[in-house]
Amino acid sequence: MFSRIPFHRVNWLISSFLIGTFLLSLTAVPAYIWRFGIDRFQIALFFAMFFACGFSITLGYHRLFSHLAFQAHWTVRLFTLIFGAAAFENSVLLWVCEHRSHHKHVDDDDQDPYCISKGLFHAHIGWLLFKLDPPPPFDNVADLQKDPLVRWQHRHIHWIGAFVGFIVPALLGLAWGGWVSALGGFLIAGVARVVVLQHCTFCINSLCHYLGTRPYSSRCSARDSWLMAIVTLGEGYHNYHHEFQHDYRNGVKPWQIDPTKWIIWTLSKVGLTHKLRRVSEEKIALAELAEAQRQLQERLAHPGLSEVAAARLSGACRRLQAAAQRWMEQPKTGSVTPVSLRVAELRREIRAATAAFRGSYSRGRA
Ligand SMILES: [Zn+2]
Ligand SMILES: [Zn+2]
Repeated sequence: MFSRIPFHRVNWLISSFLIGTFLLSLTAVPAYIWRFGIDRFQIALFFAMFFACGFSITLGYHRLFSHLAFQAHWTVRLFTLIFGAAAFENSVLLWVCEHRSHHKHVDDDDQDPYCISKGLFHAHIGWLLFKLDPPPPFDNVADLQKDPLVRWQHRHIHWIGAFVGFIVPALLGLAWGGWVSALGGFLIAGVARVVVLQHCTFCINSLCHYLGTRPYSSRCSARDSWLMAIVTLGEGYHNYHHEFQHDYRNGVKPWQIDPTKWIIWTLSKVGLTHKLRRVSEEKIALAELAEAQRQLQERLAHPGLSEVAAARLSGACRRLQAAAQRWMEQPKTGSVTPVSLRVAELRREIRAATAAFRGSYSRGRA
């Protein structure tokens, strides 16, 4: 079994950290809770660290630094760099380098660092256990290398991470309730929080390319899932994100759960973020239309489709085509009301067509 592992490529530092913190979470953390219990302070510290570090990854590392989806005051950038380091997902420079490669070469076995076609385990954590081959060239992060805060974080990443991620929770515990509380802060808000948060964010690379729907494009494996959105602080609408990566929103519909978007928007109201980038409603609706049409055509071509299901799908196809035609023929006045009415009409037709597609699929199978 071990003879198949390429030991010369193992990233010993990262592998030891990931495995060590995971084992401590399964042994020392429950032992501490069994021996000393857990009080409100420890729970509050766990969640404070979880959300500070988690949003530093989603808001900072991902939407701000990787995709330049908005601009932020230096205090926001510094906060996300400091608490992002405490998430122990590497420096922002390396994280962004790998993430931009993922978007550019998504689903390409050779160039996507966490390609889902190599399996869920590889996309989730397996890729981190080995050094990238070839090593990241840093040729796609020249813009970030000009930022002195980014360069500072890259130089001192392990020290910042260890201090903010482990020593600060222990010191806060010490101040709250002495040495026992200090140990609790280290184990619960430090070690256990790192492990839980890492696996939540690793889900973006694994389950967000595996579970859910593809309403905007089936050209790549990324999927939309409300369940994953809860786990990943809003990043679960990954199909939308891969189609429109520069939009500061991932959950673009009003009812979708995207706390990272809500924070960026709120910060913009107090002047800490600005130039929030949004894709127009029309462009989004047209992407949904093209994808719904493509999926309907694919289903219609399915050899096992029953006559009833085929008739239902053909009807949906015609209605969708007619809605698209009306869309194209209407004058683009640029005023908000007609545009939003057209978008609403198109969305209704897409929903009806998708319902027909789902109904026909289950009947076809029956
Ligand atoms: Zn991204
Ligand atoms: Zn992805």
